[in-house]
Amino acid sequence: MTSPGTAAVPDRARVVVVGGGVIGASVAYHLAHLGMPDVVLLERDRLTSGTTWHAAGLMATFGSTSQTSTELRMYTRDLYARLEAETGQATGLKQVGLIELAVEPGRLEEYRRVAAFNRLCGVEVHEISPAEVARLFPLARTDDVLAGFYIPGDGRVNPVDVTMALAKGARTHGARIVEGVPVTGFLQRRGAVTGVRTAQGDVEAEFVVNCAGMWARQLGELAGVSIPLQAAEHYYLLTEPIEGVDGGWPVLEDPANYGYYREEGGGLMLGLFEPACAPWNVGGVPDGFSFGELPPDWDRMTPYLERSISRVPVVASVGIKKFFCGPESFTPDLLPIVGEAPELKNYFVAAGLNSIGILTGGGIGRVVAQWIAEGRPDIDVTGMNIDRLHRYQANPEYRATRTVESLGLVYATHYPGRPMRTARGAKVSPVHHRLVAQRAYFRDVSGWEGADWYAPEGAEPEAGELSWGRPDWFGNWAAEHDAARTGVILMDMAFMAKFDVRGRDAGQVLERISAGHVNDKPGRITYTQWLNSAGTLEADLTVTKLDEDRFWVVASDTAHRHAETWMRRHIGDAHAFVTDVTSGYAQINIQGPRSRELLASVTSADVSNEAFPFRTAAEIDIGFARVLCIRITYLGELGYELYIPAEQAVHVYDRLVDAGSAVGLRHAGLKALGSLRMEKGYRDYGHDIDNTDTVLEAGLGFAVALDKPGGFIGRDAVLAQKERGPLRRRLVQMRITDPGPLMFHAEVVRRDGKPAGYIRSASYGFTLGGAVGLAMLDADEPIDQAYLDASEWTVQIGAAVYPAVASLRPMYDPGNKRIRI
Ligand SMILES: Cc1cc2nc3c(=O)[nH]c(=O)nc-3n(C[C@H](O)[C@H](O)[C@H](O)COP(=O)(O)OP(=O)(O)OC[C@H]3O[C@@H](n4cnc5c(N)ncnc54)[C@H](O)[C@@H]3O)c2cc1C
Repeated sequence: MTSPGTAAVPDRARVVVVGGGVIGASVAYHLAHLGMPDVVLLERDRLTSGTTWHAAGLMATFGSTSQTSTELRMYTRDLYARLEAETGQATGLKQVGLIELAVEPGRLEEYRRVAAFNRLCGVEVHEISPAEVARLFPLARTDDVLAGFYIPGDGRVNPVDVTMALAKGARTHGARIVEGVPVTGFLQRRGAVTGVRTAQGDVEAEFVVNCAGMWARQLGELAGVSIPLQAAEHYYLLTEPIEGVDGGWPVLEDPANYGYYREEGGGLMLGLFEPACAPWNVGGVPDGFSFGELPPDWDRMTPYLERSISRVPVVASVGIKKFFCGPESFTPDLLPIVGEAPELKNYFVAAGLNSIGILTGGGIGRVVAQWIAEGRPDIDVTGMNIDRLHRYQANPEYRATRTVESLGLVYATHYPGRPMRTARGAKVSPVHHRLVAQRAYFRDVSGWEGADWYAPEGAEPEAGELSWGRPDWFGNWAAEHDAARTGVILMDMAFMAKFDVRGRDAGQVLERISAGHVNDKPGRITYTQWLNSAGTLEADLTVTKLDEDRFWVVASDTAHRHAETWMRRHIGDAHAFVTDVTSGYAQINIQGPRSRELLASVTSADVSNEAFPFRTAAEIDIGFARVLCIRITYLGELGYELYIPAEQAVHVYDRLVDAGSAVGLRHAGLKALGSLRMEKGYRDYGHDIDNTDTVLEAGLGFAVALDKPGGFIGRDAVLAQKERGPLRRRLVQMRITDPGPLMFHAEVVRRDGKPAGYIRSASYGFTLGGAVGLAMLDADEPIDQAYLDASEWTVQIGAAVYPAVASLRPMYDPGNKRIRI
């Protein structure tokens, strides 16, 4: 191993990168290549001494239905392929190919969907026969194989060599890499990081990037930054040389049997992803753990080893050179933790790589460097942004409980709606127990127990087998959907993020960050977007003006901390104060054409259309409670959102349910919310719109008040895009004309047979009569309804292709008549 050498610790830097694993080296490399001056990487021990040194080095571009993840993988592979020529340091990249095995129908369906999506992204994937698998990897048993998915450009790399090449490339472009210097603390001033502490002295810095791998959480704590990752045991076995094994064979992955296989030293490496794993050192990773390994737990691992050996049976009869166990970091949702900490400005994190740090490391380094250099990321980061996570998730008990499940998810079949099973019950709605009594089936909604759907009386809320087809409870879901369209439903939405924003300048601050006109007259709700100066979306939410100096801001659960941080960071010295009141208020929505009848029966307030029109917000009485009632809808019907002090939530709920029997009130869950809002084309930030979309491309231009006095952040960018002429990139609603199939996410959309985009999120449109979703389409010509109507649209679902129709206006109630009745 070559060391990039040491240097003295400077007392000042532009950026300090903490940690010299593959991620830190990649961040430093990319910062230096962007021309960022004074980049310093501080490594506690030696480069790669944490987790990187013992990684198996698998390189896979195949496998994800996230555009971001697939792009990160492709970029990483291409970077590693050119690093040697650039730096003179070999990376050990061998593009010997990779085969993913499908041995069950569910997995075959998943891989066909993934293959179609990955091809759209530019990955070369071939579905191959069992005989072809046997030809490419002759030691594999293939009698039960349904198909293989072969990616010729994938393969393996040497993680240490890659890190050294990145470090060398960073140094060549001016970065300093200093080994043997642990960071022991952080400097901060007025909510921003200003440097790091080391035994060799402080280093002042404008930005700090925590790339400390499994130490990142405890290091983050020193700055008050919560990074909920947890180290866990991770295994591979190395055999003695085996006759006939060839270094040119592709890597083979058999997730159904928990194993991957590749040549190593003339024998095989057999790596494992067991379904239930073992967290390591929940209390904290020892400071001096370098080039370390853990004693393998043979008893725990033997059943999984036996399963994985059954795929390559020769392993059972050859000597075992080593059963290696090393720690790797896992996160609560198996997605990396990347971005600027909500707690501390200019403090970036790139950690929690969930066993794919090598194969995504190049891309992660690129996006973090670009984010720092330009102030915002150039790819969709909503899924990996550190601010999606919550501080309680760093609790020892949470980490110990959730991590057991995380590692195993890597090799699980990724059925739609697969629930997280561990660390449940962390947050419940004030009316939770009433919903239990109504037979709600709950799923984890950012840690909340969210009612997904309800079982009918006499039945248990059991989800049944996961599948790609219609679930057992499809009929219940349909009935809830129908009740919202024809009667009235009650929906618990306690998980929504709620903020009370007050102060003399509160209206001015919110008006400046909102693209809509939110500081209008009191008692009015406004649906709006928050944009950055490039005109792309930072948040999609509602702002209600309650009084001249008091506002009520509501965002979705996943946008909770992003919206809060965005608000706080734009207040500056203004007289405005944000209080997170999420826990203080329940939110119960009553929606549907009979919702007014229901509301009128429980309040003395006049809720007639004349007295209480669409977008009205007022405090009303319900029984003994005072309730903030807002007439608005996220599912396309007449409806009301009720914000109730938590301690009166049960009382109000009971009043609604009692009165509801007279109007046929039905409980409805989040599945119905999904299908109802999708028919109406209502957007969901982080699912179908993200930080790379402009407000116009997202189809939300109607919510922008371009001419409001004083303007708003992003206005110039919106104007500039308007001036450039008709849009060639637009979010479009798509519906499959065949009522049979279901869509979920990532299905490929074709126009006249040619790829045009993919479904970002989808549901089943019970009223429209088929699967419906939203797709961002790119075209060479302006996209308008005439263009959509003149084209022939299809959507590929697994191996099948279905005709579809496309629309810019909502397919359900395009004239918004139903919400204004
Ligand atoms: C058995 C095994 C097999 C794997 N196989 C693969 C694979 O095939 N493909 C793949 O993509 N990934 C694989 N991984 C995952 C991969 O190894 C990790 O995701 C990756 O190495 C993480 O890199 P990192 O830079 O985040 O962490 P690390 O490599 O741990 O780097 C963090 C660095 O921070 C330093 N540090 C910590 N605290 C401080 C401090 N206070 N001050 C200064 N420096 C500090 C540490 O010394 C360390 O060098 C595997 C992991 C394991 C365990």
